[in-house]
Amino acid sequence: MQKHIAILGSTGSIGTQTLDVVRSHPDTFSVEVLTANSNAALLIKQALEFRPNAVVIGDESKYEEVKQALINTNTKVFAGYDAISQVVQMDSIELVVTAMVGFSGLKPTTEAIRAGKHIGLANKETLVVAGELITALAKKHAVNLYPIDSEHSAIFQCLLGEWHNPIEKIYLTASGGPFRGKGKDFLATVTPEQALKHPNWTMGAKITIDSSTLMNKGLEMIEARWLFNLKPEQVDVIVHPQSIIHSIVQFEDGSMKAQMGLPDMKLPIQFAMGYPDRLKSDFPRFNFIDYPSLTFEAPDAETFRCLYLATEAMKKGGNMPCILNAANEVAVKAFLDKHISFPEIPELIEKTMAAVPFKTEMDLLEYIDTDSIAREKAHEFAGISI
Ligand code: NDP
Ligand code: MG
Repeated sequence: MQKHIAILGSTGSIGTQTLDVVRSHPDTFSVEVLTANSNAALLIKQALEFRPNAVVIGDESKYEEVKQALINTNTKVFAGYDAISQVVQMDSIELVVTAMVGFSGLKPTTEAIRAGKHIGLANKETLVVAGELITALAKKHAVNLYPIDSEHSAIFQCLLGEWHNPIEKIYLTASGGPFRGKGKDFLATVTPEQALKHPNWTMGAKITIDSSTLMNKGLEMIEARWLFNLKPEQVDVIVHPQSIIHSIVQFEDGSMKAQMGLPDMKLPIQFAMGYPDRLKSDFPRFNFIDYPSLTFEAPDAETFRCLYLATEAMKKGGNMPCILNAANEVAVKAFLDKHISFPEIPELIEKTMAAVPFKTEMDLLEYIDTDSIAREKAHEFAGISI
């Protein structure tokens, strides 16, 4: 029996690796839906190879190009962002892999859960923004959220067979990013080109910048808190530059379980897709002799203030993580566009967190509202007109 999947963001780093997994297991998976933002050429190529039931291109100006290219196939072509939220509800889909980037993942993920689809969750921003709502909705519709983020996949793997045993705390491992050990003077000189070079992982631009500021680890703390139903004080971060141990669970007897392997996103992607089975793979194997020392150090949340800000947002709750996320998305884009410097990223986020009204009673519309107010404020603080 094949598992029928939809991949939202199939043209990105996670999306293309998800298709690599499908390609290696054609009897196990079949592709029902693929979606992209504006990369029509790659979406067409993928559709011709995997023959999905439907594709969606977010950017409506690319509709004709995609439609014409797939005219002789049975693939239905749709365009626009609302169409992404609609196709995820198709009866034939069992698992939706959410590999879009940023806040854009929230609405389609919500709709997929409402339609009873299990989620392979890469789009961490969805849980950062609206973790309480999403986890409650998943419970209501008996939908599983399978983590794809490597740290969360590690925690999930450590918890197998342990569901009845309470977690004392978890440690999310962090590589430390390309600027580990650097001081504030150095960070003031950092260019987008330098920040886009991650030591251990090849990923999309937004998460690569988030990794360089340590915001990625902050977002992951919030993601973990919701996925594993933890209190903020049960979530800790440890820097582990080799990225071999992907995260650790500490149980109430003091015992710790860790999951390890070479840093390759295909492993957690495949685990989420194949759960509960471990599918055979030919991914390179870890060799202990190549890594005679695995090292650990405390994160520097004083120099990398984004980690501190995310921790504060997690503790505060309500709409604060949503404000943090919106401001961060604006700040990352402004940095990549060279409107602001690297140290201005946390400054912009902190100012926005102080400026947007704090709320605790949230629903989907309130999150959308908070997101747009926060974006407006962040643009204003960055001196960018929208
Ligand atoms: P990429 O930027 O490589 O890919 C993003 C994908 O989403 C592309 O297919 C893009 O389409 C599409 N997309 C972007 N914006 C929109 C939008 N507004 N509406 C619809 N589709 C959109 O990102 P990654 O693959 O690196 O990351 C995806 C998610 O997974 C992120 O949330 C990230 O945090 C998370 N993640 C990624 C990891 C990684 O190793 N890359 C690891 C762990 C988590 P197009 O190509 O047309 O622009
Ligand atoms: Mg991660």
